[in-house]
Amino acid sequence: MNKPAEVVIVGAGIVGAACALELATEGLRVQVIDESFPGAGSTGAAMGHIVVMDDSEAQFAITRYSQILWDDLRDQLPSAVEFDPCGTLWVAADEDEMGEVRRKFNYYRERGVNAEILDSQQVREAEPHLRSSLVGGLRVPGDSVLYPPCAVGFLLQKARELGARIIQGKPVSAIGRGSVRLADGTTLSAGFIVNATGQSAPKLTPGINVKPRKGHLVITDRYPNFLHHQVVELGYLKSAHSLTADSVAFNVQPRKTGQILIGSSRQYGAENSAVDESILTRMLQRAFQFMPDLGFLSAIRVWTGFRPATPDKLPLIGPSLEDPSVLIAAGHEGLGITTSLATGKLVSSQILGQRAAIPTQPYLPSRQMTAEAHV
Ligand SMILES: Cc1cc2nc3c(=O)[nH]c(=O)nc-3n(C[C@H](O)[C@H](O)[C@H](O)COP(=O)(O)OP(=O)(O)OC[C@H]3O[C@@H](n4cnc5c(N)ncnc54)[C@H](O)[C@@H]3O)c2cc1C
Repeated sequence: MNKPAEVVIVGAGIVGAACALELATEGLRVQVIDESFPGAGSTGAAMGHIVVMDDSEAQFAITRYSQILWDDLRDQLPSAVEFDPCGTLWVAADEDEMGEVRRKFNYYRERGVNAEILDSQQVREAEPHLRSSLVGGLRVPGDSVLYPPCAVGFLLQKARELGARIIQGKPVSAIGRGSVRLADGTTLSAGFIVNATGQSAPKLTPGINVKPRKGHLVITDRYPNFLHHQVVELGYLKSAHSLTADSVAFNVQPRKTGQILIGSSRQYGAENSAVDESILTRMLQRAFQFMPDLGFLSAIRVWTGFRPATPDKLPLIGPSLEDPSVLIAAGHEGLGITTSLATGKLVSSQILGQRAAIPTQPYLPSRQMTAEAHV
């Protein structure tokens, strides 16, 4: 019990929790330390859409791999995690976006992901509250949703059952050279340290580029059967790609409780977590354009959160350049709930010197240093 941990994980968000479970499963002595409580960061603010994405081959590889891992866990997830294999319905507002539907369909099909092109009428049948003028859409039935705060609790509980220790309310002030210094002056030693502090990762590993990207969400009262899929406008992809401008996109999710979660917005440089009325209004107007009946529902809560974003939209997973005893597992932007389980596998394979199921190279933090050298 009192032996020092082999791996100390700083950060008990979904990424730290997934790393803890994976490493504890491999039989390592694991300690997780959070300055607040599990899920207190981006994880507790997130939507929980488990989604295969195709922005790049590397993004596809990690989202698809992780989705399969979530599906494998499905039977073990307690009902509080609210896992719902509802699928995603990507909707096209015009012919340009219908072109994107076809591209995405071919991309997924070539890589073994089930998808189905819907025409305007079929989209309306799938989601009767959508406006009738949509041109069509793409249904991806293998996507799902879950409730992130309970998912993180589940992963940590399983890690605990395998011997992991979880310490809450203890800020870490420095890591490196096999030691972890807490703000209260305590020092812990470990063979490996995982920096899983999300948007705060550069504070403990200076030089990496992870920046907060603010988002707003609204949740409604309970309206069972109002919505059947996670519905996202294809314009969402343009909004997610913009690295500077504030943007909003129509993105709604059915919760198992019957509530509807309405998103989403993206803002850089907004450090204040207060609700921004103007972007909230833009976000809701966008949602009402696609699904006018949403305007008749009662909203019960609005909140914000910060996505830990990297410039190339891929997470940083792997050793820090200066200190190979420190592994970074941060920068998952708007996909960290999806990609957490794969991140745990990649971190574990690097610590144990094993081959991972997908190539690790695209996510290595060293790519940021190389990119900077080119600049
Ligand atoms: C509005 C919004 C919607 C989203 N929707 C989705 C979605 O639908 N699907 C999806 O896949 N992803 C989504 N995301 C993204 C997802 O939430 C993040 O990518 C993910 O939660 C990142 O997890 P993390 O564990 O890296 O970071 P966090 O959850 O932020 O965890 C980091 C932890 O580190 C702790 N910490 C920080 N500094 C220290 C320190 N010095 N010492 C000790 N502890 C420290 C914090 O307390 C925190 O608990 C969304 C995010 C937002 C904001």
